[in-house]
Amino acid sequence: MDCSEPDCDRPAAVELHIPWAENRLVCAPHARVLGRRDGIVADPLPDRADELLE
Ligand SMILES: [Zn+2]
Repeated sequence: MDCSEPDCDRPAAVELHIPWAENRLVCAPHARVLGRRDGIVADPLPDRADELLE
């Protein structure tokens, strides 16, 4: 599963829970940016936890 952002082909590492839209799977860098918006909750994917720690 790749990041859902356009022109990004990094592997998805985080699920974003967005109150006004469907949940999205994004890579760690995009999660950092998008996760700053009010209401969005960034939930790291358990099977990607190892990659986030590298
Ligand atoms: Zn991305």
